[in-house]
Amino acid sequence: MRTIQCDVVVVGAGPGGSMAAKYCAEGGLDTILIEKKAEIGAPLRCAEGVSKSWLDEVGIKADPTWIRADMKGAIIKSPQGTSFQLDESKAGAEVGYVLERHLFDKALAKDAAEAGAKIMMRTSCIGIIREEGKIVGIKAKSLGEEIEIRAKCVVAADGYECQVARWAGIDTNLKLSDIDSCIQYRMCNIDVAPDYCEFVIGSVAPGGYVWVFPKGNGVANVGIGVAGQLCTKGADAKYYLDKFIAEDPRFEKGQILEIMGGFVSTCPGLDCAVDDNIILVGDAARIIDPITGGGICHACRTGMYAGKVLTECAKTGDFSKKALMAYEKMWRDRMEDKLFRNFMAKEKLATLDDETIDQLIKMISTADLKNVTVYNLLKAVKEKFPQVVEGFEDLI
Ligand SMILES: Cc1cc2nc3c(=O)[nH]c(=O)nc-3n(C[C@H](O)[C@H](O)[C@H](O)COP(=O)(O)OP(=O)(O)OC[C@H]3O[C@@H](n4cnc5c(N)ncnc54)[C@H](O)[C@@H]3O)c2cc1C
Repeated sequence: MRTIQCDVVVVGAGPGGSMAAKYCAEGGLDTILIEKKAEIGAPLRCAEGVSKSWLDEVGIKADPTWIRADMKGAIIKSPQGTSFQLDESKAGAEVGYVLERHLFDKALAKDAAEAGAKIMMRTSCIGIIREEGKIVGIKAKSLGEEIEIRAKCVVAADGYECQVARWAGIDTNLKLSDIDSCIQYRMCNIDVAPDYCEFVIGSVAPGGYVWVFPKGNGVANVGIGVAGQLCTKGADAKYYLDKFIAEDPRFEKGQILEIMGGFVSTCPGLDCAVDDNIILVGDAARIIDPITGGGICHACRTGMYAGKVLTECAKTGDFSKKALMAYEKMWRDRMEDKLFRNFMAKEKLATLDDETIDQLIKMISTADLKNVTVYNLLKAVKEKFPQVVEGFEDLI
């Protein structure tokens, strides 16, 4: 069997993997990035919405090639039609872009390649190699050929399925209540606001929300995420999305150009995202916003942190769990509180009836918020509806 040697092998060329590969290669590590699919970023499994606030932090320069639409704001709606409009003047960089995700992912992989990472497409990790109990690389199938890639550290960036971590013996199991199932239609011929991302919460999408993210010229990603155990018996994500579309006159002439489905985890992140000679980033570590399901920024941040920590580890040659704990500290310091707070908010939101949601949105739209962030919204909610934030008031 052919064997390839490198310092770091990164499994998965999503945003997390490409960022990890880029920062490892920039740090001088011999880096291989493998991707099982034939095309990076395709098929699409994303609503393509991001805020702008984190791009600088991870060293990504906004590029018109992957920005499909620049948003002026967001609209949050209740099923009864009450809405709250969030504009750039108040939300700042929290307002964002609708991407061409397949181009965004390719741009990040290109950055990794330019930094010196080697990309192997149609190369699927099929197992972990251990010697005397220690992880020393991965087994892969590359264009039909079984190969070994031996490395000092494996970066598991294989997304929601996170098989690599499981093969390494890390428990990534999810509770049913921490999974949202999603379906999205790319629709045309629809009459939606061209520069506002829309979120509809409440009984239209039990445990999740409906999104309408405009892509210009009467086209938008219209999708839904729902928590299965909160749905009416026999109803699934498609049932709720079709119902929402059928009841909204803006979609009367709409046609579907593309359908996709997928899952997002809505838990606060793994207890530990490292072990000896392995590090987990992005969705594979369950590091994703539990309330919005937004994971692109978290994948990019954790990918960058992983690359930086691995660069340091290479200086001493120590890739043990103890040495990799520097990564744990980095992502937890930056994100843990927020992810946990949003997890608690998601749990609460799922218990509220439409009337309470309506009152909440009315209250938020009249509250004097200078800067609208999830944190400030929760602060306003805490003042008027303390029962809604019961259990996590200390985090607000
Ligand atoms: C329906 C839906 C809508 C979403 N909408 C948004 C949104 O609007 N905004 C947002 O920020 N986030 C959104 N997300 C979440 C976002 O897509 C993820 O959080 C993000 O892609 C995580 O990046 P990642 O690099 O960790 O994993 P991924 O992007 O999933 O990348 C993992 C990569 O690993 C590859 N891979 C898997 N297994 C192997 C293997 N064995 N060998 C080799 N390669 C492998 C996969 O092919 C894939 O390319 C959405 C998710 C879903 C499902």
